Amino acid sequence: MNVKEFEKLLLDEKKTIEETLSSVSRQNPDNPNDWEAKYPDLNVEPSDKNDMADEVEEYSNALGVNAVLEAKLVNINGALNRIKDGTYGTCEVGKEEILENRLRANPAARTCVNHSK
Ligand SMILES: [Zn+2]
Repeated sequence: MNVKEFEKLLLDEKKTIEETLSSVSRQNPDNPNDWEAKYPDLNVEPSDKNDMADEVEEYSNALGVNAVLEAKLVNINGALNRIKDGTYGTCEVGKEEILENRLRANPAARTCVNHSK
């Protein structure tokens, strides 16, 4: 297995996620793995109820996107760490080799097909 190839896939995905996160969230300066959804600027008076509803909706969407992307990022960072320590591509549960086509579909996979879920 060409680990470099998967490392590149993971790094590309990480970059895309971080770019998306930075558009909806603010990175915690004390913890680069923690992203907080941006709350709409409350100093701006919404001109009517619809504007306010839009802002709330925007914020709750950002919270949802934030949670999903943050979880993906944790998985990707975990996979990158496994590449570093040489355990990438090994099932976390049964320690068997994860099939390459599974990793191609999901480079951050932590288990083989049999042990997923
Ligand atoms: Zn397994």
